Amino acid sequence: MADGAIGETGLFKPRDQAEAGIETGSVNGPARAAAQLTHSLILEDPGKLVIARFNSFAERYGQWRERISLHLSGIDFAPDLAEDIGSVRWFRGAGTMFGLAAVAALFWPDFAPVEAAAPMSVNDAQRDEFRSQMIMPLALGGDSGRHMAATSAVIPLQSAPERPQIELVATLGQGDSFARMLQRAGVGSSEANRVVSLISGAMPLSDIAAGTKVDMVLGRRVSPTQPRPLDSLSFRARFDLELALERRGGALALDPRPIRVDSTPLRIRGKVGASVYRSARGAGAPARAVQDYLRTLASQYDLDSALGPNDEFDMVVSYKRAATGEVETGQLLYAGVIRNGKPKTQLMRWGKDGQFFEASGVGEQRSGLLAPVPGRVTSSFGMRRHPILGYTRMHAGMDFKASYGTPIYAVSDGTVAFAGRHGGHGNFVKLNHGGGLGTGYAHMSRIAVNAGQRVRRGQVIGYVGSTGLSTGPHLHYEMYRGGKVVNPASVQFVTRATLSGKDLANFKAQLGRLLQVQPGAALASLAPPESDVDAPRREIERVDRPRMLR
Ligand SMILES: [Zn+2]
Repeated sequence: MADGAIGETGLFKPRDQAEAGIETGSVNGPARAAAQLTHSLILEDPGKLVIARFNSFAERYGQWRERISLHLSGIDFAPDLAEDIGSVRWFRGAGTMFGLAAVAALFWPDFAPVEAAAPMSVNDAQRDEFRSQMIMPLALGGDSGRHMAATSAVIPLQSAPERPQIELVATLGQGDSFARMLQRAGVGSSEANRVVSLISGAMPLSDIAAGTKVDMVLGRRVSPTQPRPLDSLSFRARFDLELALERRGGALALDPRPIRVDSTPLRIRGKVGASVYRSARGAGAPARAVQDYLRTLASQYDLDSALGPNDEFDMVVSYKRAATGEVETGQLLYAGVIRNGKPKTQLMRWGKDGQFFEASGVGEQRSGLLAPVPGRVTSSFGMRRHPILGYTRMHAGMDFKASYGTPIYAVSDGTVAFAGRHGGHGNFVKLNHGGGLGTGYAHMSRIAVNAGQRVRRGQVIGYVGSTGLSTGPHLHYEMYRGGKVVNPASVQFVTRATLSGKDLANFKAQLGRLLQVQPGAALASLAPPESDVDAPRREIERVDRPRMLR
């Protein structure tokens, strides 16, 4: 270790060892030794300094300074805190440090951010003034600049000019008249009457549906006291007709514009699958048509057996479409089920009642009777002791428990044979259902039908009451066969209309026509046929044509 030997013996001798004789402290660290060495070197011996010889002020100041410096040098202000940790000297040093830090912290003004110069306060007027001198991009509204006050060159108008024309849309309301609608829109009464007479010449005014919108143009009026003249008017009068009125040479002229309408019924066929409703809707059937289809099938068959997932549904809906694009969907005309490629069920609407008939001409089967009121039977047909008369006699009907005012329904289709007061029956209605069958409804509080009227199954014919010989509100219900009273519980009505003769032939012909309709035929384009399209008129197209063909 030659290097180590050289360092220790010669050149790099530590200072605290070298000057050990000057300071006597036994626990000297190297730093402390260095500090003390400095002062002891400068002032080796204060007594040796000759200061009395110089009496000048500077000399005294220097003397004083020396003394202070000497005194201060004795005080150890900043001991090294890494040394002698825990000693009195160390605690003094630490106290000094914390004290100075605390003083420094006390001088700290605030921990809030340093505030910049206060912004200039601008009121609204000044802000507008600034804005008026800015160039703002137009995209932001371009609101800079200033409106000029009117100068003497500006002359105010006597009156605001009137618009030369007013275009407006008037709507025909429910229970409204066409003339009233025109007058509401500002057309004079004489002109409104002329318009009405012109339109009623083309079509009955009552055919115009409520809610029809009428486009009008009112022209310039002669004087402010007079109504504006009607310049032109146009509206969709019917599904297949647009009417326009125009002023030509001072007089109004009607210009009917028929709209091409195709009334091919909409036929929709498809596989039933998991849900007829979803499949049919997916195939493009209107929701109402699908509901009608299901209701029609359900009214005649048990739906579970009538429609299987592998069957095909087949429906025809009355459908109208105009060349202008509007579509009108009507009622269901035909409801069919195809099983294994063969028609299983075929029902077509026929007659003014809208009943569905089978392909053979047999109408809807309506089996069973409706309950006349939704209550339980409290007294049935047979001998019983009469509650009012007090002796045993025949009870010629059925009593249904029902509260006052409950509606009473016709149990089946029929005609009203009697309606009115009928002795002990009180307010009484008798219906004839055909085939010698009849029903009677007694003790009504109110009768809702008239004699001779036709009623449908389920129609309300009156309301429960307690008129006649009755102890409280209930319905006494009778049934007759061939004019004689029978037990209502013994009769099951089956009413089934059957077409025959000419009616049946017409029915079959109509059914044949409906089944000729191809599914989706009604959805084909209504565009005019190719031959109607005009030949090219421009010479350049004529020149181009042979080239295109090549
Ligand atoms: Zn009774």
